[in-house]
Amino acid sequence: MQRIIYLDNNSTTKIDPEVLDAMMPYLKEKYGNPSSTSHTFGREASAAVDIAREQVADLINAEFSEIIFTSSTTESINLAIKGVIENSEREKIHIITTKIEHKAVLNVCKYLEKFGVEVTYLSPDSSGIISPLNVRENLKPDTLLVIIMSANNEIGTIQPIGEIGELCEEKNILFLTDAAQSVGKIPMDVKQLNIDFMAFSAHKIYGPKGTGALYVRKLGDKNLLYPQIHGGGQEKGFRSGTLNVAGIVGFGKACEVCKRKIFDEFNKHTVWRDRIIQNLNAKIEGTFLNGHPVKRIPNNINIGFKGISNSLFINEFSDLAISTGSACSSETLEPSYVLSAIGRTKTEISCSIRIGIGRFNTEEEIEYIIKRIPDGINKIKEKLL
Ligand code: PLP
Repeated sequence: MQRIIYLDNNSTTKIDPEVLDAMMPYLKEKYGNPSSTSHTFGREASAAVDIAREQVADLINAEFSEIIFTSSTTESINLAIKGVIENSEREKIHIITTKIEHKAVLNVCKYLEKFGVEVTYLSPDSSGIISPLNVRENLKPDTLLVIIMSANNEIGTIQPIGEIGELCEEKNILFLTDAAQSVGKIPMDVKQLNIDFMAFSAHKIYGPKGTGALYVRKLGDKNLLYPQIHGGGQEKGFRSGTLNVAGIVGFGKACEVCKRKIFDEFNKHTVWRDRIIQNLNAKIEGTFLNGHPVKRIPNNINIGFKGISNSLFINEFSDLAISTGSACSSETLEPSYVLSAIGRTKTEISCSIRIGIGRFNTEEEIEYIIKRIPDGINKIKEKLL
C-alpha cells in the first residue's frame, strides 16, 4: 500500500497516544455520569472532569470556573454570540467582525442579521491582518460585540488580538476570539489579551473530535450569556446535556501535553515551515505565499504555484494529504473567500494549496516533501508543454 504523509493538521489532528490512554478508562470501566454523585462511578467521572477543566483552563491562563465544555468550536461560538445577544436588553445591536472568519462565525452573523442585528465585516490587508485602527473607526454607540479570530484557518495569519482586546476593554465592548487555530500552537493568555470569550476545540490539538470549550471571563460573577441548550442544567446551566466524559478527559490531557510541548513545537514547526517555504520558492518558478510571512502560526503554509491548478496537483500528489481550498468549509466548492479577501484572483486561488504540519510529522517527511513537490510540479509542467 502507498504511504500517505498527513499534512492537513489545520483541519484536524491525529489523537496523541497519551491522550488516548487517558481516555480509555472512561470509555470502558469508568462509565459513570458526572452528575450522579451519589455513588463512586459518578464521583469518579466528576473528579475526572474537574481535572480536565483545570488542565484546559491552565493552558490559556483562565480560572477553573471560567470554562464551559461544549461539543466543538462551532458550538462555543454559537453559544457566545447568540447568548450575548439574547442576554442583552439593548434595542439596537451592532457587531464588528471580519470577512475572513470561519463560517462558524459568518453564518451565525448572517442568521442574526435576519433579526435586525447590524454586522460590519472588516477587510484584511493583503497579508490577512485586521488593523486595530480599522476596528476603532468602525465602532458605533450600539456596538455590543467584536469578533476577531486569533489565527486564520486557511492562511495562518495571526491577528493583533492583544491590541484589539485592549481597545474593547477601553470602550467597554465585549470581545470574542475564535482560537481554534491558535490554542496549543502559540501562547494564549486570556488575561493578558483582555478576552471576554474564547472558543476552541480538542481535535485541533491532538485530542478527540466532538469536544470543545468556551472560555467566559468571570463566568458566574457577571451575567453575560443566555444559554442556548436547555435541559438538565449541566455546565452551570449554560450547556445542558450529559457530559462527554471521555472526550473531556482527552481534551484536558491534550491541553496538558500542549502546555508541556508548546515552545519546542513552536520552534520546530517554525523552522520546518520556513524551510519548506524557502525551498519551494527557490525551486519552483511562479510560487507565491498566501498570508503573512512571519505573523503566522508555525504549522501553516498556504502557497500557490502559477499554472498548477488544484486538480492537476491532486492527480500528481496522491501520496500527500494536503488541503486544496479550505478543508473546514470545502463542502461548498466556491473559491476561497479568505484568499479572495486578501486580493487573490480566481486563478491564483485555484492554484493555492494548504500544508498543515503537525506533531507526528518527522524530519524525514519534511525533507521528502521539499524534494517531492518540486519534482512533481516539474513533471506536471513537462506534461503541459
Ligand atoms: N474556527 C476555526 C478557525 C477553525 O479552523 C475551525 C475548524 O474547523 C472551526 C472554527 C470549527 O471547529 P469545530 O470543528 O471544532 O467546530
